[in-house]
Amino acid sequence: MAKKQTEAKKQTEPAALQKKQAEQAARTRKQAEPAPKEKRKAESAAKEKKQAELTVRQKKQPAPAVKEKKQPAPAVKEKKQPAPVPREKKQSAPVPRERKQTSPASKLRVMMLGGLNEIGKNLAVLEYENDILIVDCGLGFPDDDMLGIDLVIPDISYLEKNADKIRGILLTHGHEDHIGAIPYVLRTINPPIYGTRLTLGILKNKLAEQKPPYKVQLNTVAAGDTVRLGAFSAEFIRVNHSIADACCIAITTPVGVVMHSGDFKIDVSPIDGEMMDLTRIGEYGREGVLLFMCESTNVGRPGHTPSERTIGASLNAIFMNNPEKRIIIATFSSNVHRVQQIINTSAKYGRKVAITGRSMLNVIGTAVELGYMKVPDKVLIDITEIGRYKPNQLTIVTTGSQGEPMSALYRMAFSDHNQVELSPGDLVVLSAHAIPGNEKLVGKIINEMYRRGVNVYHEEAEVHVSGHACQEEIKMFHALVRPQFFMPIHGEYSHLMQHKELAEYMGMPADRIFVCDIGQVLELDGSSCKRAGTVPAGRILVDGYGVGDVGNIVLRDRRHLALDGLIVVVATVDTDTRAVLSGPDIISRGFVYVRESEELMEEVRTVARDSLRGTLEDGVLEWTEIKQNIKDDLSKYLYTRTKRKPMILPVIMNV
Ligand SMILES: [Zn+2]
Ligand SMILES: [Zn+2]
Repeated sequence: MAKKQTEAKKQTEPAALQKKQAEQAARTRKQAEPAPKEKRKAESAAKEKKQAELTVRQKKQPAPAVKEKKQPAPAVKEKKQPAPVPREKKQSAPVPRERKQTSPASKLRVMMLGGLNEIGKNLAVLEYENDILIVDCGLGFPDDDMLGIDLVIPDISYLEKNADKIRGILLTHGHEDHIGAIPYVLRTINPPIYGTRLTLGILKNKLAEQKPPYKVQLNTVAAGDTVRLGAFSAEFIRVNHSIADACCIAITTPVGVVMHSGDFKIDVSPIDGEMMDLTRIGEYGREGVLLFMCESTNVGRPGHTPSERTIGASLNAIFMNNPEKRIIIATFSSNVHRVQQIINTSAKYGRKVAITGRSMLNVIGTAVELGYMKVPDKVLIDITEIGRYKPNQLTIVTTGSQGEPMSALYRMAFSDHNQVELSPGDLVVLSAHAIPGNEKLVGKIINEMYRRGVNVYHEEAEVHVSGHACQEEIKMFHALVRPQFFMPIHGEYSHLMQHKELAEYMGMPADRIFVCDIGQVLELDGSSCKRAGTVPAGRILVDGYGVGDVGNIVLRDRRHLALDGLIVVVATVDTDTRAVLSGPDIISRGFVYVRESEELMEEVRTVARDSLRGTLEDGVLEWTEIKQNIKDDLSKYLYTRTKRKPMILPVIMNV
């Protein structure tokens, strides 16, 4: 309906413009299907459109120039020409069957191998015929019950099986939950990696730590660049986030455009002056987006996320009100803009800035080197030089805002830092909210600092803003993209469902929204989206240098040991004579304090000895059975006596 109006009106326009618009309309038609949603939207928008038509057109005129610049994109559209034909047919008469006959395999498969129903280890996969594209490859952090586990990475067995199809990994930004798994997955797959300068700079640092035995193919892109990989072409588009140089990615596939938001917020007065490229996103929206994948982190929060710039004012107030104190600020190491503001404020108040903490030094070093930060002359000093300055001439920027044990702030609080000892002359600012799950750790540090008479600013002072979009910003993204189908990503189940509600509020029919789990496959052609089975997905646990060698059984043992401790029964037997030659001796760890429980330990020994003798006298010579009997008898006895179930480990030797 709306299209007819457009055409009718066009006749009054000058010929050249008409032609351009006809082309554009044709393109739009090719991409956007005559879905019921379009109709509905068209109807509701019809009135406004009539009025807006003229202004829109005038606005559109400069657009072709922009498009000229972005030559890669139209070229891709040229390539796509074979595809639109069946789609055109479909418009005149719905013959999906015929279409299937002409290209049965030509469906786009989209799946997440991480980042759904969990926070972290984000990894999206797009697959079309013989081409696979990966967006982000992050790590997650272990739950409380994963004892001793350092990191969690996605199960990529599906990618390993299809390694020859993978054309590349695209990175939206340099946060751990988006790039952290790369050093591990490169051990089995090694596709080229694409990301912006800062993202790849941080990744290079990480890879250097691991000293990988393989060659890494890093390709630097800038916002606005398009890369072509197999059947796909992907354009990186600027977004704002709590790290510099972040992008969302519009991926043109043979069946339509997939828009992946990455992590984003809309900051209209960003620190580096680069605002999210809403114009470009809107252009994709106007031409038709098939699938929108959008992050859900802050979908539960109404309103807008404040600009990073608001932190500047808070910092200024803190510095102004504490002229005598040494100021120590803990924040996320990757928040380059936050650190930039800390440096600016310090310089303004004549303070030197020292940086401590390995990841902070890494990221800030990279950012300064690549020109993402502007540091005034002689403001940065080495942490070893702080002794030369008075406390009120110093700002120290540190890691540890999440209370991480071994972080620089933790070591300061517990007198374990080589250069910094906290005292009542210090003001500590925690410029970060505790990530859910870290509250206890953060509380522990704060308590310890108060104990030392340190002045601490945390939640109550406005020294942190989120890097993620709140509801109004998410709505804006939806309104610009106007996708045919939508998949909320990056969030726990409640986030994903809230995001579904938001999309429905924005006018999307519920049956076009797909709340998925990791490994679930969505299959799309130009006009439909269906769930199509699953691929293997899950979490691989990383403990020290071991990747995936700690499974459920090991974790169960660790939990068992942690809860009730261990009892080892050592004995030597002669299976020929069926005699117990020595022992059984009882060793216990983490069960009871032996010196105060000698009586109990003596009883344990008696039970073990009786069990062993009884089994041997019964003629049992199978090692597993002998051991199992000792375990059963002992654990029964210990449970009635102590209500505890320690792990029991019999070690029986034969001579
Ligand atoms: Zn992020
Ligand atoms: Zn993230």
